[in-house]
Amino acid sequence: MASVISIIFGATVGSFLNVCIFRLPKEESIIWPGSHCPLCRKPIKFYDNIPLVSYLLLRGRCRYCHSPISIQYPLIEGITALGSLILFMKFGPSLSYLFYFSFVAGLIVITVIDLYHQIIPDVISLPGIGAGLLASLIIPQITFLNSLFGILLGGGSLFLVATLYQWLFKREGMGGGDVKLLAMIGAFLGWKAVILTILLSSLIGSITGIIIMVSKGKDFKYAIPFGPFLSLGAVIALFYQNEIIFWYLRYRG
Ligand SMILES: [Zn+2]
Repeated sequence: MASVISIIFGATVGSFLNVCIFRLPKEESIIWPGSHCPLCRKPIKFYDNIPLVSYLLLRGRCRYCHSPISIQYPLIEGITALGSLILFMKFGPSLSYLFYFSFVAGLIVITVIDLYHQIIPDVISLPGIGAGLLASLIIPQITFLNSLFGILLGGGSLFLVATLYQWLFKREGMGGGDVKLLAMIGAFLGWKAVILTILLSSLIGSITGIIIMVSKGKDFKYAIPFGPFLSLGAVIALFYQNEIIFWYLRYRG
Protein backbone atom coordinates (compact mmCIF):
# COMPACT_ATOMS: atom_id res chain seq x y z
CA MET A 1 0.00 0.00 0.00
CA ALA A 2 2.75 2.42 0.99
CA SER A 3 4.56 1.54 -2.26
CA VAL A 4 1.47 2.49 -4.26
CA ILE A 5 1.34 5.85 -2.46
CA SER A 6 5.02 6.44 -3.25
CA ILE A 7 4.28 5.76 -6.94
CA ILE A 8 1.29 8.16 -6.99
CA PHE A 9 3.32 10.76 -5.11
CA GLY A 10 6.19 10.32 -7.57
CA ALA A 11 3.94 10.67 -10.63
CA THR A 12 2.36 13.82 -9.18
CA VAL A 13 5.76 15.37 -8.52
CA GLY A 14 6.77 14.29 -12.04
CA SER A 15 3.83 16.24 -13.41
CA PHE A 16 5.14 19.34 -11.60
CA LEU A 17 8.66 18.65 -12.92
CA ASN A 18 7.25 18.85 -16.46
CA VAL A 19 6.00 22.35 -15.68
CA CYS A 20 9.46 23.29 -14.35
CA ILE A 21 11.16 21.84 -17.44
CA PHE A 22 9.04 23.98 -19.76
CA ARG A 23 8.91 27.18 -17.76
CA LEU A 24 12.26 27.56 -15.95
CA PRO A 25 14.28 28.15 -19.16
CA LYS A 26 11.74 30.83 -20.17
CA GLU A 27 11.93 32.33 -16.67
CA GLU A 28 8.16 32.01 -16.29
CA SER A 29 6.35 31.42 -13.02
CA ILE A 30 6.00 27.72 -12.23
CA ILE A 31 2.86 28.36 -10.17
CA TRP A 32 0.71 30.65 -12.30
CA PRO A 33 -1.02 30.42 -14.74
CA GLY A 34 -2.23 26.80 -14.80
CA SER A 35 -1.34 24.39 -17.61
CA HIS A 36 -2.83 24.97 -21.04
CA CYS A 37 -2.56 23.32 -24.44
CA PRO A 38 0.44 24.87 -26.26
CA LEU A 39 -1.54 24.81 -29.54
CA CYS A 40 -5.13 25.88 -28.87
CA ARG A 41 -4.24 27.61 -25.53
CA LYS A 42 -7.31 26.06 -23.83
CA PRO A 43 -6.69 25.58 -20.09
CA ILE A 44 -6.28 21.93 -19.10
CA LYS A 45 -8.99 20.81 -16.65
CA PHE A 46 -7.86 19.04 -13.49
CA TYR A 47 -9.41 15.75 -14.65
CA ASP A 48 -7.32 15.92 -17.82
CA ASN A 49 -4.21 16.61 -15.75
CA ILE A 50 -3.96 13.34 -13.80
CA PRO A 51 -0.37 12.08 -14.13
CA LEU A 52 0.03 9.11 -16.53
CA VAL A 53 -3.72 8.29 -16.44
CA SER A 54 -4.95 11.31 -18.43
CA TYR A 55 -2.40 10.76 -21.18
CA LEU A 56 -3.69 7.20 -21.66
CA LEU A 57 -7.37 8.21 -21.44
CA LEU A 58 -6.91 11.02 -23.98
CA ARG A 59 -4.74 8.69 -26.10
CA GLY A 60 -1.98 11.32 -26.13
CA ARG A 61 -4.12 14.07 -27.71
CA CYS A 62 -5.58 17.40 -26.56
CA ARG A 63 -9.28 17.06 -25.65
CA TYR A 64 -10.20 20.15 -27.71
CA CYS A 65 -7.95 20.50 -30.75
CA HIS A 66 -6.73 16.86 -30.81
CA SER A 67 -3.14 17.90 -31.37
CA PRO A 68 -0.67 15.35 -29.99
CA ILE A 69 0.60 15.82 -26.43
CA SER A 70 4.37 15.39 -26.10
CA ILE A 71 5.40 11.90 -24.96
CA GLN A 72 7.75 13.75 -22.61
CA TYR A 73 4.90 14.33 -20.13
CA PRO A 74 4.08 10.68 -19.32
CA LEU A 75 7.77 9.76 -19.70
CA ILE A 76 8.91 12.21 -17.00
CA GLU A 77 5.95 11.24 -14.80
CA GLY A 78 6.80 7.57 -15.19
CA ILE A 79 10.52 8.01 -14.50
CA THR A 80 9.81 10.17 -11.43
CA ALA A 81 7.26 7.63 -10.13
CA LEU A 82 9.78 4.81 -10.59
CA GLY A 83 12.51 6.83 -8.85
CA SER A 84 10.15 7.53 -5.96
CA LEU A 85 9.31 3.83 -5.60
CA ILE A 86 12.95 2.67 -5.70
CA LEU A 87 14.02 5.31 -3.15
CA PHE A 88 11.06 4.43 -0.94
CA MET A 89 12.05 0.77 -0.99
CA LYS A 90 15.62 1.73 -0.07
CA PHE A 91 14.95 4.29 2.67
CA GLY A 92 11.39 3.55 3.84
CA PRO A 93 8.99 6.24 5.06
CA SER A 94 11.66 8.64 6.32
CA LEU A 95 13.17 12.09 5.91
CA SER A 96 16.01 10.42 4.01
CA TYR A 97 13.54 9.24 1.39
CA LEU A 98 12.22 12.81 0.91
CA PHE A 99 15.79 14.16 0.90
CA TYR A 100 17.06 11.84 -1.82
CA PHE A 101 13.82 12.02 -3.78
CA SER A 102 14.02 15.80 -4.01
CA PHE A 103 17.66 15.41 -5.07
CA VAL A 104 16.74 12.98 -7.87
CA ALA A 105 13.78 15.19 -8.90
CA GLY A 106 16.20 18.12 -9.25
CA LEU A 107 18.53 15.98 -11.37
CA ILE A 108 15.66 14.99 -13.68
CA VAL A 109 14.74 18.64 -14.34
CA ILE A 110 18.41 19.59 -14.85
CA THR A 111 18.99 16.69 -17.24
CA VAL A 112 16.06 17.49 -19.55
CA ILE A 113 16.66 21.27 -19.54
CA ASP A 114 20.36 20.71 -20.27
CA LEU A 115 19.50 18.38 -23.16
CA TYR A 116 17.14 20.95 -24.72
CA HIS A 117 18.92 24.23 -23.96
CA GLN A 118 22.50 23.39 -22.88
CA ILE A 119 22.03 25.27 -19.64
CA ILE A 120 21.78 24.18 -16.03
CA PRO A 121 19.46 26.58 -14.20
CA ASP A 122 21.00 28.21 -11.12
CA VAL A 123 17.55 28.27 -9.51
CA ILE A 124 17.93 24.51 -8.94
CA SER A 125 21.65 24.00 -8.38
CA LEU A 126 22.33 26.92 -6.00
CA PRO A 127 19.42 26.29 -3.57
CA GLY A 128 20.29 22.59 -3.96
CA ILE A 129 23.76 23.20 -2.54
CA GLY A 130 22.26 24.94 0.50
CA ALA A 131 19.51 22.36 0.95
CA GLY A 132 21.96 19.45 0.81
CA LEU A 133 24.25 21.05 3.38
CA LEU A 134 21.38 21.92 5.75
CA ALA A 135 19.79 18.48 5.45
CA SER A 136 23.10 16.81 6.32
CA LEU A 137 22.48 18.07 9.86
CA ILE A 138 19.38 15.86 10.20
CA ILE A 139 19.90 12.97 7.75
CA PRO A 140 21.78 9.98 9.22
CA GLN A 141 23.31 8.97 5.86
CA ILE A 142 25.69 11.94 5.60
CA THR A 143 27.60 14.15 8.05
CA PHE A 144 27.82 17.94 7.81
CA LEU A 145 31.57 17.81 7.17
CA ASN A 146 31.20 15.21 4.43
CA SER A 147 28.59 17.40 2.74
CA LEU A 148 30.81 20.47 3.09
CA PHE A 149 33.85 18.66 1.65
CA GLY A 150 31.59 17.39 -1.13
CA ILE A 151 30.65 20.96 -2.08
CA LEU A 152 34.27 22.14 -2.00
CA LEU A 153 35.60 19.15 -3.93
CA GLY A 154 32.73 19.14 -6.44
CA GLY A 155 32.78 22.87 -7.11
CA GLY A 156 36.57 23.16 -6.79
CA SER A 157 37.65 20.29 -9.03
CA LEU A 158 35.43 21.15 -11.98
CA PHE A 159 36.23 24.85 -11.58
CA LEU A 160 39.91 23.94 -11.85
CA VAL A 161 39.32 21.80 -14.95
CA ALA A 162 37.20 24.52 -16.55
CA THR A 163 39.78 27.24 -15.84
CA LEU A 164 42.63 25.06 -17.09
CA TYR A 165 40.73 24.21 -20.26
CA GLN A 166 39.96 27.85 -20.93
CA TRP A 167 43.60 28.78 -20.36
CA LEU A 168 44.88 26.03 -22.65
CA PHE A 169 42.39 26.27 -25.50
CA LYS A 170 41.29 29.90 -25.13
CA ARG A 171 37.61 28.93 -25.17
CA GLU A 172 35.06 27.75 -22.69
CA GLY A 173 34.88 23.97 -22.50
CA MET A 174 32.75 23.33 -19.50
CA GLY A 175 30.02 25.66 -18.35
CA GLY A 176 29.77 27.18 -14.90
CA GLY A 177 26.47 25.29 -14.63
CA ASP A 178 28.34 21.97 -14.49
CA VAL A 179 30.54 23.31 -11.67
CA LYS A 180 27.50 24.28 -9.58
CA LEU A 181 25.77 20.98 -10.36
CA LEU A 182 28.73 18.95 -9.13
CA ALA A 183 28.86 21.10 -5.99
CA MET A 184 25.18 20.27 -5.43
CA ILE A 185 25.90 16.56 -5.96
CA GLY A 186 28.69 16.86 -3.38
CA ALA A 187 26.33 18.55 -0.92
CA PHE A 188 23.84 15.66 -1.13
CA LEU A 189 26.17 12.67 -1.49
CA GLY A 190 29.52 13.67 0.03
CA TRP A 191 33.08 13.90 -1.29
CA LYS A 192 33.65 10.23 -2.17
CA ALA A 193 30.57 10.26 -4.39
CA VAL A 194 31.95 13.36 -6.13
CA ILE A 195 35.05 11.44 -7.24
CA LEU A 196 32.90 8.50 -8.29
CA THR A 197 30.52 10.82 -10.17
CA ILE A 198 33.39 12.44 -12.10
CA LEU A 199 34.81 9.02 -13.07
CA LEU A 200 31.44 7.52 -14.04
CA SER A 201 30.19 10.55 -15.97
CA SER A 202 33.47 10.94 -17.89
CA LEU A 203 33.39 7.25 -18.78
CA ILE A 204 29.73 7.16 -19.85
CA GLY A 205 30.07 10.56 -21.56
CA SER A 206 33.10 9.46 -23.59
CA ILE A 207 31.45 6.22 -24.69
CA THR A 208 28.29 8.10 -25.68
CA GLY A 209 30.35 10.73 -27.53
CA ILE A 210 32.19 8.04 -29.51
CA ILE A 211 28.95 6.26 -30.39
CA ILE A 212 27.36 9.53 -31.59
CA MET A 213 30.44 10.50 -33.61
CA VAL A 214 30.59 7.07 -35.26
CA SER A 215 26.89 7.04 -36.12
CA LYS A 216 26.44 10.71 -37.09
CA GLY A 217 29.81 11.42 -38.63
CA LYS A 218 32.63 13.65 -37.41
CA ASP A 219 31.03 16.92 -38.55
CA PHE A 220 28.23 16.47 -36.02
CA LYS A 221 27.84 19.95 -34.58
CA TYR A 222 25.56 19.52 -31.56
CA ALA A 223 27.62 20.01 -28.40
CA ILE A 224 26.76 17.18 -26.04
CA PRO A 225 25.83 18.67 -22.67
CA PHE A 226 27.63 17.21 -19.65
CA GLY A 227 24.85 17.73 -17.08
CA PRO A 228 22.93 14.55 -17.97
CA PHE A 229 26.09 12.45 -17.50
CA LEU A 230 26.89 14.10 -14.17
CA SER A 231 23.29 13.39 -13.09
CA LEU A 232 23.46 9.77 -14.21
CA GLY A 233 26.82 9.31 -12.49
CA ALA A 234 25.37 10.83 -9.30
CA VAL A 235 22.38 8.47 -9.31
CA ILE A 236 24.67 5.45 -9.73
CA ALA A 237 26.84 6.81 -6.90
CA LEU A 238 23.75 7.31 -4.73
CA PHE A 239 22.81 3.65 -4.98
CA TYR A 240 26.12 1.85 -5.42
CA GLN A 241 28.93 4.02 -4.03
CA ASN A 242 29.70 1.67 -1.13
CA GLU A 243 29.69 -1.40 -3.38
CA ILE A 244 31.90 0.27 -6.01
CA ILE A 245 34.40 1.64 -3.46
CA PHE A 246 34.49 -1.75 -1.67
CA TRP A 247 35.03 -3.55 -4.96
CA TYR A 248 37.78 -1.12 -5.92
CA LEU A 249 39.63 -1.41 -2.60
CA ARG A 250 39.41 -5.18 -2.70
CA TYR A 251 40.49 -5.81 -6.28
CA ARG A 252 42.92 -3.03 -7.06
CA GLY A 253 46.45 -4.06 -8.04
ZN1 LIG B 1 -5.35 21.88 -27.80
